Amino acid sequence: MHKDLQEILISREELEAGVKNLAGRISRDYEGRCLTVVGVLKGCVLFMSDLVKNVSVDTRLDFMMLSSYSGAHSTGVVRILLDLKESIEDCDVLIVEDIVDSGLTMEYMLQNLKTRRPRSLEVCTLLDKPSRRKTDIPIKYTGFTLEDKFVVGYGLDYNGLYRNLPYIGVLNKETIEGKKTCL
Ligand code: 5GP
Repeated sequence: MHKDLQEILISREELEAGVKNLAGRISRDYEGRCLTVVGVLKGCVLFMSDLVKNVSVDTRLDFMMLSSYSGAHSTGVVRILLDLKESIEDCDVLIVEDIVDSGLTMEYMLQNLKTRRPRSLEVCTLLDKPSRRKTDIPIKYTGFTLEDKFVVGYGLDYNGLYRNLPYIGVLNKETIEGKKTCL
């Protein structure tokens, strides 16, 4: 375990099994169709990479990056920093996100992408923290449900670090108070 963590919540093996399970469900649900997977950068990267490797239907990949806001001062205002490269009109679109917390980011994504007239639009999140929800959003595929804890690893960061950890864990107090960065 990384020295800045106090515990591992979801091990590498559990993640692997959970992601394969999601990929199996997605492959069955979209059988005979072509899937457009839209990843929300940067948190989606490790999850999306492992997920699509296990999806058996024809798949296109595209990405969006949205401005993040600090949870305590959340206004629900989200800005697009990087938009999709391709049109999604008449496509079967699956949004892939690392974690749904308040749900405000996903609500914005759904509203925005709906205006581009996809054939279908669904959400796949690796992690869900339902107790923190501020808005009701439809999530079709959920990997793991968490209680209200701030987690890092497998794409999720704290001050830009820990995304590369192959498991999901909780930081220890000293690390959070010390505000460690790479710079
Ligand atoms: P929401 O709009 O649902 O409140 O927030 C979604 C975004 O908040 C996620 O994409 C992620 O960037 C960030 N976030 C929410 N909870 C956590 C967490 O426990 N750990 C990390 N690293 N980021 C989180």
